[in-house]
Amino acid sequence: MKITLLGLGLMGLPIAHRLIHCGHEVIAWNRSPERLRLAEAEGISIDSALIPAIEAGEVLLLTLSDAAAIDEVLFCEPVIPLLEGKIILQLGTIAPDESRAISSRVEQAGGDYLEAPVLGSIPEARSGELIIMAAGSETAYHHCLLMLRGLGKEVDHVGLVGQGAAMKLAMNQLIASLTAGFSQSLGLIRAEGVEVEPFMKLLRQSALYAPTFDKKLQKFMEHDYSNPNFPLKHLIKDIALFQRVAEASGMNGEIANATLRVLVNGQEAGYGDEDYSSLYEAINPGFDVETDIGC
Ligand code: NAP
Repeated sequence: MKITLLGLGLMGLPIAHRLIHCGHEVIAWNRSPERLRLAEAEGISIDSALIPAIEAGEVLLLTLSDAAAIDEVLFCEPVIPLLEGKIILQLGTIAPDESRAISSRVEQAGGDYLEAPVLGSIPEARSGELIIMAAGSETAYHHCLLMLRGLGKEVDHVGLVGQGAAMKLAMNQLIASLTAGFSQSLGLIRAEGVEVEPFMKLLRQSALYAPTFDKKLQKFMEHDYSNPNFPLKHLIKDIALFQRVAEASGMNGEIANATLRVLVNGQEAGYGDEDYSSLYEAINPGFDVETDIGC
């Protein structure tokens, strides 16, 4: 399949590699030249000009940061007429209403739109083990299914445009609230000088345990959030979207609001580009690393 991949960020680059590994013909474009050069150095075919890049692919695969970026790339004057006959496959995390708006603009331009937000990060993108929540055009879904199965260990069509986006926001709300909940409990354990490993041993045997706790434990113990796969600033974007959508649908948004405030505190303390689990530091500020009782 001839795929034009737009956006060579943290997710775009490993996805491009995975698609090539699966035998697809990939041409990649990125706004800033640095990431383009990096991709080229890693053997990916690139085009630094947007128009020929878009002309080259039957599927335009979007791994852009947000709806504003999609707007800027897809709906600039010279690009709109080129969307006719193309499948637009949108992998980023955006809100359901944003996805529906993009879908109708794509349809107006004569294209076919499939949203396919993903759960999982760089390692899962590299190994083709993402969880993919596709929604929208059935025709586009069946056309892309083989390709999506190369990217994901689980590929489901979950409904109408916006419903995949909603499912993804629901998942990311769990990322934030599980991590925040564990950070609070672990913070108390450490503040009271309780040994961490006995606490973890009991927690692991309980119904309260989630695998993400052990995945992040070392970062919390070492206060090291460097080399992120999923930076805190992205989780802020996602929880802000969740909070807006939840309140618009009549839900009580107070918990999402509080989570968002904690995340923003973390960003203001300088953790925006670090792993999202650095929200631990915003919940447990000023923790003295020297006197920390480790596991
Ligand atoms: P990223 O590393 O920040 O990359 C963002 C990409 O969007 C870059 O290629 C960037 O180009 C491009 N971009 C941003 N604004 C643009 C604009 N106005 N015009 C053109 N290009 C623009 O983000 P990522 O981690 O790859 O995430 C991409 C999407 O997947 C996001 O929606 C994210 O929430 C979602 N996601 C991420 C993960 C993860 O673990 N990282 C997991 C699941 C889903 P430049 O290089 O020019 O800035």
